[in-house]
Parts: sequence; C-alpha cells; structure tokens
Amino acid sequence: MSTEDSGLPAESWRWPEETWRGRVDAVRAGRRLVPDRWPGGARVAVALSFDSDHETIPLRDGETSPGRLAQGEYGARVGAGRVLDLLARYGVPATFFMPAVSALLHPEEARAYTRDGHELAVHGWIHERNMLLGHDDELELTARALDTLTAVTGERPVGIRTPSWDFSPSTLAIMLELGFGYDSSLMADDEPYEIVAEGRPTGLVEIPVDWIRDDAPYFTMDRYGSVRPHSRPRDVGEIWRDEFDAAYREGGVFQLTLHPHVIGHRSRLVVLRELLDHIAAHPGVWYTTHAGLADVARVVPHDTAAPSSPAPSASPASPVSPASPASPVRSVPDAPEHTP
Ligand SMILES: [Zn+2]
Repeated sequence: MSTEDSGLPAESWRWPEETWRGRVDAVRAGRRLVPDRWPGGARVAVALSFDSDHETIPLRDGETSPGRLAQGEYGARVGAGRVLDLLARYGVPATFFMPAVSALLHPEEARAYTRDGHELAVHGWIHERNMLLGHDDELELTARALDTLTAVTGERPVGIRTPSWDFSPSTLAIMLELGFGYDSSLMADDEPYEIVAEGRPTGLVEIPVDWIRDDAPYFTMDRYGSVRPHSRPRDVGEIWRDEFDAAYREGGVFQLTLHPHVIGHRSRLVVLRELLDHIAAHPGVWYTTHAGLADVARVVPHDTAAPSSPAPSASPASPVSPASPASPVRSVPDAPEHTP
C-alpha cells in the first residue's frame, strides 16, 4: 500500500504520530524465543537454508531470454545436486524454500529434498514481488504455491519465506490465514522471535534472516548495470564464520540463506564446505531445519525469554502477559488456528 493509495500525504514529515507509529506497530518483533539450552544440551542451533529460485528470478521479471534462463537452470542442473551431496556428506539437514513454478519445472528435485530428510517450504508462486500485489492476488498466489508444493511432494509445508524477503502490509494476515507455523523473511533480531501485530502476539514464529548471511549480495551481478561483485568467496566465508562464532558464544542461532545457482559454483561451494568443517570442529552443535527450530522456539516458556527480550512495542497494549501459558496465544482477529 503506498501512502498515496491510503490518502496520506506522500511527505512523511507531514504524517501525524498515529500514522508513523501505526505503520511501525503493524508488524513488530515480540519476545525473543531462545531456550536455556538447545535440544541435546547443545550450545548453538545451526539452521541452513537454500532458496531454490532457479529460473523464477528472470521469469518473475518477464525476462524469457534463453541466456537469462540458463543462469537459473544452472541451479537445478548443477547447484542443487552439489548442495545435496555436501549436506549428505556432513549429515546436516537444511530447509529448501522453493517457488512453486520452480518445483513444477523440477519436481524430482523438490521430491529429492524431502526424500533426503530436508524440509521443503513455500517461497511464492513465481518469486513475485508482494509489494506490487494487492491482498487478493498475494493470497491467491501464496495459497496456490502451498497447494502446489503439497501436490508435488505429498507433504504440506509448514513454513514460508517471502520471495526476496518482500513483506507487504497483507503478508502477515495471509500467513496466519493459511496456517503457516513460521516465517523466515524479517530482520529484527539475530534470534527467533514471536511476531507481534498491532501490539498483540500472533503465535507466528519468525526465524530472522539478513543480507549479511546471504550469498546473493556478495556474488550476483547485473550484466548491464555498473555494480560488480568484488567479494572473494573466502572473504565471505570469513564473515559467516564470525557470525557462527558469535552465535556459538551467545548460545543462539546461526542461520544462513544460500541459493543453489549462486553458491553451487565450484569456487564458492568450497567456502560452504570450509564453513561446515569449522562448525563441525565445535562440540554442542544442534543442526536443524527451520521447521525444527520453530518447533523448539514456539514452546520457549515466557519466563526464560523475558530477560533477554527486547523492549516490546511502545503500544499501550502489552504483547506479553507473564501469566500466559507456553503455548502460543493467537489473538489476531479472524485468524484461524495454525497447524504447527
Ligand atoms: Zn528467492
């Protein structure tokens, strides 16, 4: 929704307080969901994810030249298999977020993810930009994506990552309506948290992401733009090692977002292998899918999380009740119960 659509002045400095405060409070980070110990007494949770976008990035933009599509095809033809082999060698589970069109182009790949014990989760229909869609189109495409992945693999996904982490004013309500158990598109923390809407906890677990822990900004380029990637893969590996080391020290989560068509190249996959070696050298690591992480985060008792929780929204309605049970409290109007 643009400010012009809503009848507000385009100039933000003319907005009344209720406007800027209301926009901020619409989707907010609630209590942090980190247990005292991770399963098995582990010190750190490691949640790797791969966005199997493949051809949908150019398709989304209406680019159908064989040249652009081949760049995405590499992810399916070469990258995904290399990633699966590497994960199998290290015995590490991961979550694959796959646009439905990508899953229809590569159904065997989608089934290989779940067959190998990984998680397959929703990543839009054709990697659409949610901010360009109205509510009804976004709902229809997200529902169709969920049904398509379910039909391809026989398993209904429980998680969602919006394409390009593009989160519209309609997105949260759509996730709740479709019964997702977690989202992984927002960036308000290093650790999982509960999403709060208008000051009220929603029960939806957020597994936060960041461009720092994503391969795309370091390595992708636009042939006709002036920006060129300048990162040496091993320099990027050093950033990710530092992210892991700090998560280990703090007893938190190390989460990574990679793309088979980006990280799957020879000179880059070596960095992921070195990172997995680095992580494996530490005792007390819990490797998990995003769904597994969300299941643990969802039942973190309120008292455990309270001391480390960031300050709640400035809204007068307190999103956290100390007497609340550990189970999620869904208080968004008209939102059906979600299936965990
Ligand atoms: Zn993507």
